[in-house]
Amino acid sequence: MNVPLLDLKAQYATIRDEVMPVVESVMDSQYFINGPAVKELESAVAEYCGCAAAVGVSSGTDALLASLMALGIGQDLPACRVGAACPGCDEVITTPFTFFATAGSIWRAGARPVFVDIEPKAFNIDPEKIEAAVTEHTKAIMPVHLFGQVAEMEPIGAIAEKHGLSVIEDGAQAIGAVRNGRRAGAFGTTGCFSFFPSKNLGGFGDGGMVVTNDKDLAQHLVWCRGHGGRDKYHNDFVGGNFRLDTLQAAVLLVKLRHLDGWSARRRANAARYDELLADVEEVTTPAILPGNESIYNQYVLRVPRRDEMGAYLKEHGIGTAVYYPVSLHEQACFAGLGHKPGDFPESEKAAGEVIALPVFPELTDEQLVYVADTIKQFLA
Ligand SMILES: *Cc1c(COP(=O)(O)O)cnc(C)c1O
Repeated sequence: MNVPLLDLKAQYATIRDEVMPVVESVMDSQYFINGPAVKELESAVAEYCGCAAAVGVSSGTDALLASLMALGIGQDLPACRVGAACPGCDEVITTPFTFFATAGSIWRAGARPVFVDIEPKAFNIDPEKIEAAVTEHTKAIMPVHLFGQVAEMEPIGAIAEKHGLSVIEDGAQAIGAVRNGRRAGAFGTTGCFSFFPSKNLGGFGDGGMVVTNDKDLAQHLVWCRGHGGRDKYHNDFVGGNFRLDTLQAAVLLVKLRHLDGWSARRRANAARYDELLADVEEVTTPAILPGNESIYNQYVLRVPRRDEMGAYLKEHGIGTAVYYPVSLHEQACFAGLGHKPGDFPESEKAAGEVIALPVFPELTDEQLVYVADTIKQFLA
């Protein structure tokens, strides 16, 4: 049997008839930038997340970067490219156990990423360790809702409020995830989403969105995505080209209607794995914290002999991946921050143990059983 990690063609087959006329109408209009679908998608995503405003951008990475720039965090002088590790620059607290773009965006803004270790059950930043990392230079906290589960936003919000910090949610893997009745993106100063094709709501290319309850900030984000210009030829500050294509927005409007159904299928698949693997002692299935409803962008186990297991599953036709094998404090490009192995032990331990299984909505029960059985075979 063949079970890929993700099968986008299977999903496309179910929506082809719905989405192709929309693609064609964008082509017919030849209105590729700032077309009407962008505004429509912004309204739809703002409403979906329970936020006052949303601003479409070119990717999840640019959603993070534009949030930092619009909040005035970091330094926008070219000289400060080398300044990210210099004393006195703005600091943003985040997790080392995440996709590169989280810390990369902080660095690119000209600020310093300050890592705080994860809480090992849910893999998200440990709120109990955040306060010790706050300094006079701290400007924001950037929690990540890893694998589709919202971070512990209430204590994070309380720390931010106490110290006057912004909160930028990296919700790239978590659109639609719920914590205590609120959706990802609705907790922070801004919430950032990615429409990269492998996310639960994926476009036909790159795309992203920032949601916020601060309408002034939303206006700033709109300026920011168009080079920082208030209009075409008057710039008060320097932004970028962070625009979302009309074509992506039109496709995403169609797919948004299916998002909750797809995420429910992923949850059902996750529940099935939980059940099938419950009595396998060596395997730790994902923990969902009280009050949380994950969208399972990834279903991630902790296992012994992880790399061998991955190779064994591959031999048996099953796709897996490791998110993430290297903690960000150990990345060569951040050597200037002066970290060493052992600085964030929970993140490093997770990096050596995690493996993601196929969890996409269109999986059959036969496939789920086959994956679980193959894992058991490997361990036997
Ligand atoms: C995917 C992802 C991003 C970046 O999104 P892009 O749209 O690929 O730029 C940022 N953070 C996390 C946690 C992600 O998973």
